[in-house]
Amino acid sequence: MLILHCPYCGVDADETDLHAGGEAHLKRFGPDSGDEEFENYLFMRENPKGVHFERWRHAYGCGKWFLAARCTATLEVFGTYSAQTTEPPQDIKDAISAKRPGWAWGDLS
Ligand SMILES: [Zn+2]
Repeated sequence: MLILHCPYCGVDADETDLHAGGEAHLKRFGPDSGDEEFENYLFMRENPKGVHFERWRHAYGCGKWFLAARCTATLEVFGTYSAQTTEPPQDIKDAISAKRPGWAWGDLS
């Protein structure tokens, strides 16, 4: 069972207390963007076997959204952090790099 630490209320919540919100760190484009950028924002998602960044909501707890870094193959959780960030905190990137040598932020392939 997937257990994630809510960075807001400090509870280790199992997946039945959470609601998945899809991929984290999606980049929105402004009103001057083209159709292809808007289509990519709406429909194109990463689906890696390995390190992935996701949005989660502590639905049956504090109700807040947060982000999680985990491995989709092993369910190993590298950390959770505030949803008000544009990229993972350095300590989480370091934790991923320690366990997945060669991994780099932005390299999801
Ligand atoms: Zn919470």
